[in-house]
Amino acid sequence: MSLSLSKKAQSVKPSSTLSITAKVKELKANGVDVVGFGAGEPDFNTPDNICDAAITAIKSGFTKYTPASGTNELKAAVCRKFQEFNGLHYEPNQIVISNGGKHSLTNIFDAILNPGDEVIIPGPYWLSYPEMVKLSDGVPVIVYGTKENEYKVTAEQIEKAVTAKTKALVLNTPNNPTGMIYTKQELQKIADIAIRHDFYVVSDEMYEYLIYGEEKHVSIASLGEEIYNRTLTCSGLSKSYAMTGWRIGYVGAPATIAKLMGAIQSHATSNPNSIAQKAAYEALTGQQDTVVTMREEFNRRRIYMYERLSGMPHVQLFEPKGAFYAFVDVSELFGMTYKGQKIENGQNLAQVLLSDYHVAVIPCDDFGYPDHIRLSYAISQEQIAKGLDRIENFIKDLK
Ligand code: GLU
Repeated sequence: MSLSLSKKAQSVKPSSTLSITAKVKELKANGVDVVGFGAGEPDFNTPDNICDAAITAIKSGFTKYTPASGTNELKAAVCRKFQEFNGLHYEPNQIVISNGGKHSLTNIFDAILNPGDEVIIPGPYWLSYPEMVKLSDGVPVIVYGTKENEYKVTAEQIEKAVTAKTKALVLNTPNNPTGMIYTKQELQKIADIAIRHDFYVVSDEMYEYLIYGEEKHVSIASLGEEIYNRTLTCSGLSKSYAMTGWRIGYVGAPATIAKLMGAIQSHATSNPNSIAQKAAYEALTGQQDTVVTMREEFNRRRIYMYERLSGMPHVQLFEPKGAFYAFVDVSELFGMTYKGQKIENGQNLAQVLLSDYHVAVIPCDDFGYPDHIRLSYAISQEQIAKGLDRIENFIKDLK
């Protein structure tokens, strides 16, 4: 058979975060005592009130199609959340509920990009952004943040990357994988550039509730009408409410774009899962104590992990301020040998850690930073301690 396949599909790399996570789950199922620092997936169960709402939805027959872009009830709850938490006013016709944050983002790129449109993506970036842009016929343009600015890109760097083809900028604060947070002043400068050069801002705020310490989350769309009109504000329930498997994400957008996204979604998936929508409604409108408890626990783990990693030789990191990742520069380990074999790069290092020390980490080539690895602290303190002991032993064993 000589039938060809889609060149676009063939150019896409499968998600390594998901494949490493799947590998860890498989190893655990086979009885291997592996510590998984891979997935950005809270180890907590979804809170009971949310699960109960889903069970009630099933038992009461809320198991049919819903409007394509989500139920009115959930859209209204999302509007209230945007108003109260983000200081953003959206009407229900500006909201699109989708099957997870990823689906929200792919809908956005499908709705705004024409072939050849450029999308500026600050690095380090979550690995799915460039692939999503390519799938929507766009061209990812990477701008690399530096250590001098804690890996955050500056407005000047963004401006240098702007061309006549620039259609959008992806902004992710708190950031996956660095845990860094953009301040209001930094966002204001970026907003000014988006307005001056007239491009969209795709603002991925998935980790907005997971901020520790003094800094506050700022939604770029809240900085004035002109930036509001150019911004697509995305979030979801996966991280803050421990609902990764439920797949509910949402976007607040200009009404014209929300309409396009709804139309795309109506053909792609009909609607987000009806039961998950009821669960999401409960998550957003019910008691919020569990969100606070989970955040406090993430904070304890963050402090522990940062202290331990900072005490290890040959690795460097900044204190993460949000999300639940530590972004670690391991380049000093490259060139050292393990059992007579040279550690060449992050992939190589991650392979040895997994096979010989039973620790899974994410090599960050796919995040644009091959000298780094990412460790999630969304696993228990006990697991973190065990995994860090193993990493410490690995470093000691290197020659
Ligand atoms: N977003 C999480 C992560 O970065 C989950 C896996 C994925 O969707 O990439 O680990």
